[in-house]
Amino acid sequence: MGKPVLNVGLIGTGFMGKTHTFGFAAASRVFDLPFEVVLHTVADRTEDLGRAAAQSLGFRHGTGDWRRLVADPEIHLVDVTTPNAFHKEMSLAGLAAGKHVYCEKPLAPLASEAREMADAADLSGTKTQVGFNYLCNPMIGLAREMIEAGELGEIRTFRGIHAEDYMTDAGHPYSFRNDPVGGGVAADLGSHILATAEHLMGPIAQVLGDAVTAIATRPDGKGGSLPVATDDVTRAFLRFENGATGSIEASWIANGRKMQHDFEIYGSKGGLIFSQERFNELHFYRSEDPAGRQGFRRIEAGPAHPPYGLFCVAPGHQLGFNDLKAIEVARYLDAIAGTAPEPFNFRKGLHIQELVETILRSSREARWLSPAA
Ligand code: NAD
Repeated sequence: MGKPVLNVGLIGTGFMGKTHTFGFAAASRVFDLPFEVVLHTVADRTEDLGRAAAQSLGFRHGTGDWRRLVADPEIHLVDVTTPNAFHKEMSLAGLAAGKHVYCEKPLAPLASEAREMADAADLSGTKTQVGFNYLCNPMIGLAREMIEAGELGEIRTFRGIHAEDYMTDAGHPYSFRNDPVGGGVAADLGSHILATAEHLMGPIAQVLGDAVTAIATRPDGKGGSLPVATDDVTRAFLRFENGATGSIEASWIANGRKMQHDFEIYGSKGGLIFSQERFNELHFYRSEDPAGRQGFRRIEAGPAHPPYGLFCVAPGHQLGFNDLKAIEVARYLDAIAGTAPEPFNFRKGLHIQELVETILRSSREARWLSPAA
């Protein structure tokens, strides 16, 4: 007997829409998935965009009406890759229709909205996933394995950063990113590095934030300008539940940085250094190495770091960004099949949003705060 069919309905066909399509297509070929995945319907803002995307991305149908996609009884999984402001409405509609829902990060502009989504997901009986794809990197998996195995000894500190430069130009017009409701760099990029921090270090117990608006006004697109209330750079000191301490920085004005998602972790027996710009490598220092031979060694990704070997039999040949989405898809489908826990469900997405809001509130109140339980 063949595998059960899983019909995917994708909403949004921009950067992430393409990446998700790649993820579903590649996962079907790379992994032994529990389903036969069918790229069923894709929706965008207009019928023309929907139909054109169906053709270029390889979906059977295209539509300009995402509600029709959600209501279609043939669709099993609704995949939301639209801008943040649409995540809640589209995801809730998907859950109400009894579908599995895969939604890009951040789960919603506000934690209060993310909570509605997580509550609806808990009641739905279906499976959810938020797109924190960097966690799917085999080298992040290796880092976690080494920490858990005690190879670094007692973990003492974490230093993380997610920096890009797409808002550097003060002439960049005011947009949804500057909206006081859910805009700002802490939500957009800080969410990624917070997810990585907790993935490796365990829960964050307390934060002390410092959110800075570096560019005070931005053009309104009509010849005038608008004041900006959201953050361009946010830093936070962190105290983890396990006693370790650390910090994160999120910036979208780091001129020249295109995709810096980096961390350093130090323990009593060693240290780890990781950079997303060279994400097929992990640098490991072991204090037990003999004097005169000490130093960070570069571990290159290869088949010894699952699931790398399913993509490529040769070490050092490197995975790419889209491959991380294929891994995310495969893990999510195992959860839908009931053979694995949900890797990063809406409840976890809500938690990240709460961390972001706690950091921003801590900055306003200039004091340490604990995220909501
Ligand atoms: P984008 O602008 O490239 O694409 C958005 C798509 O949604 C476009 O095709 C647009 O036409 C469509 N859309 C907008 N309104 C719609 C509507 N009402 N109905 C149907 N389609 C609609 O944006 P993007 O960069 O792909 O970002 C989308 C989401 O992905 C955001 O939430 C963002 O935070 C997230 N994102 C995640 C990562 C990651 O690494 N996980 C990277 C980039 C973006």
